[in-house]
Amino acid sequence: MMSVNAVGMATTTAAWVPPPATTPRRCRRPDPATASSHAAYARAASSWGPRLPFKCQPQSPLPSPLRRFPRRCAVAVAVTSSSAASPTPPPTPPPLFPPPVPAMKNVILIDMDNTLANFDAEFAKRWVAARPGDETTMITERVHFELEENFDSELAPLAVKIMSTPGFFIEFAPAPGAVTAVKEMVDAGYTVFFCTAPHPFQYETCVAEKYAWVRKHFGDDYLARIIITRDKTVVKGTVLIDDKPAVKGAEEAPEWTHVVFQASYNKEVTSKPRLTQFSDWREVIVPLLEAAQ
Ligand SMILES: [Mg+2]
Repeated sequence: MMSVNAVGMATTTAAWVPPPATTPRRCRRPDPATASSHAAYARAASSWGPRLPFKCQPQSPLPSPLRRFPRRCAVAVAVTSSSAASPTPPPTPPPLFPPPVPAMKNVILIDMDNTLANFDAEFAKRWVAARPGDETTMITERVHFELEENFDSELAPLAVKIMSTPGFFIEFAPAPGAVTAVKEMVDAGYTVFFCTAPHPFQYETCVAEKYAWVRKHFGDDYLARIIITRDKTVVKGTVLIDDKPAVKGAEEAPEWTHVVFQASYNKEVTSKPRLTQFSDWREVIVPLLEAAQ
């Protein structure tokens, strides 16, 4: 068919050709998923031929919305729906963010290593496996926060090697009562974030395993609560529960109050609130949150 377009050029337009007779009838029917309304779908369906073969008809009652379609339409919808159905529905993705925080009040930041998760216990177990004659107290009663600094130059490389082994971080046991306490905080309406610093020179497995650890012990819903940063001073929050004796960074006056979580290497810190065990969180943390309102 010849025609002239808007710029005066002759064009050839192919006439519409119906699908070949070998095409399965249901494939020529409009897709109900793309119809703008039931009425539009019914208009499109009015040009169809006879109803679908018996084998294409639904074997079970149709969902109530489909009963509003004409019979032929409903049959086609049922065919489309059944062909699109998956035997196992896709898993529900975890939330991208925790619930909103009004004015960023009542935000509890919790460190992971040696606060929420027992870093030293897993390290001691692996250290003794590598050096059977050593006492674990040299680890569990250590005096320096950075673990490798507690060993002399000959043994420090072994300490680093143990920490760098894939599967190390995921094996940490939760601190006693930590999982229960965190869930109690959330249930009480407080906003909890896991605020953790990756190991400075061993982040490849550390970061991924921290996510896996949270998923393992808290579930997918808590993944959105992970904050991984080397500088916690720039993170907003009301309190930070952390075993590190002094949490320093670019911000000299962080928004949060540092609550020291009990460890052998922070016993000297007496000027800050202290959380000895997670079961005491209401006595230690709640007054600080209320004072910040
Ligand atoms: Mg820590």
